[in-house]
Amino acid sequence: MKGVSNLEIHRNTWIEIDLDAVAYNIKQIQKKLPKETKVMAVVKADGYGHGSIQVAKKALQAGADYLAVALLEEAIKLREASITAPILVLGWVPPASAIEAAKHGITLTFFQKDWLEQVNSYSFSKPLHLHLKVDTGMGRIGIRTKEEMQDILHALNKNRSIYLTGVFTHFATADEPESTYFEEQRTRFKRLLSRLKEQGLENLDVHVGNSASAIRLPEDMYDYVRFGIAMYGLYPSQAVKEKGEIDLKQAFSLHSKLAHVKRLQPGDCVSYGCTYQAETEEWIGTLPIGYGDGWLRRMQGFCVLVNGIRVPIVGRICMDQTMIRLDQAYPVGTKVTLIGCQNDACISMDEVSDYAETINYEIPCILNNRVPRIYKGQ
Ligand SMILES: *Cc1c(COP(=O)(O)O)cnc(C)c1O
Repeated sequence: MKGVSNLEIHRNTWIEIDLDAVAYNIKQIQKKLPKETKVMAVVKADGYGHGSIQVAKKALQAGADYLAVALLEEAIKLREASITAPILVLGWVPPASAIEAAKHGITLTFFQKDWLEQVNSYSFSKPLHLHLKVDTGMGRIGIRTKEEMQDILHALNKNRSIYLTGVFTHFATADEPESTYFEEQRTRFKRLLSRLKEQGLENLDVHVGNSASAIRLPEDMYDYVRFGIAMYGLYPSQAVKEKGEIDLKQAFSLHSKLAHVKRLQPGDCVSYGCTYQAETEEWIGTLPIGYGDGWLRRMQGFCVLVNGIRVPIVGRICMDQTMIRLDQAYPVGTKVTLIGCQNDACISMDEVSDYAETINYEIPCILNNRVPRIYKGQ
């Protein structure tokens, strides 16, 4: 583990990010998309916990044309890492922040007339690009009615530095097999687009689809797909995975090393609350990772890989430590894999998120920065 020692970590727990997998996943979606549909790589929440700068750079190398984040802070971080590609902020920012966005050449999302009027009142030294968000059924942000659209279009073109360069919506059920609601949203968006065209607004960057939509309807994605979870090699849902329409490689793996190994006698306890007691003579290993890293307490009873085999997590998970029952004595320093593969044996992100009763998106996001990320294929 050269990378680990380079980081000078004093605890043997780390996350490996395989950037070649990111590039591979982008290639897989590009193969399905028509030539005119480009990839907008979604790297919000620090690249879904994978590292936004490293993933963004790799995604651009692999052929992505645009980046998307949720916050202006996240976009500025990319600019400060010398990334010059276009960046869209998908969420709401305070109007006063538009000045900072323009300065960095960062595109903002807008959907409120009051917001636009306030932004119109500023003077900009560089152009400000805006994408209009339309709420066709997600119920989160965006204009919902014809009237709102009229109002907002009226407030446009009042400031020579402000340009409407795109329009987009977001689907609530693209990852589900049932398509009625998805189709309703698509119809609403089409109607709205034709209204925009009637108003003479053409040449806009139009985008509607996240990973699930892009995999499902690659032919109907307009100018960009907002490619998030699948870029990291994770399927948006079991339904999408089962359809087998795309092959993805998981980029994220989590590893540690045994910090301690001991023999327990029948009746001996492990961890707080004594929820686990040895039944026979057993080898118990201690790992330097816990819920303080985002390795959830509810992973008690799940498993990890040691020497290519699955062994159980026993006793309560502590803030900084987790105990496992070994099949034999292993030396301190033996590698343990919590997410990912050892030889042919694998524990996938989906297995972990199923056990934690959540979705795969959440797991890499909550494994926090106490765990260093090491990059392969940079
Ligand atoms: C997060 C996000 C995406 C990416 O979705 P995935 O399911 O991860 O592909 C796309 N669009 C918007 C508006 C988002 O917030």
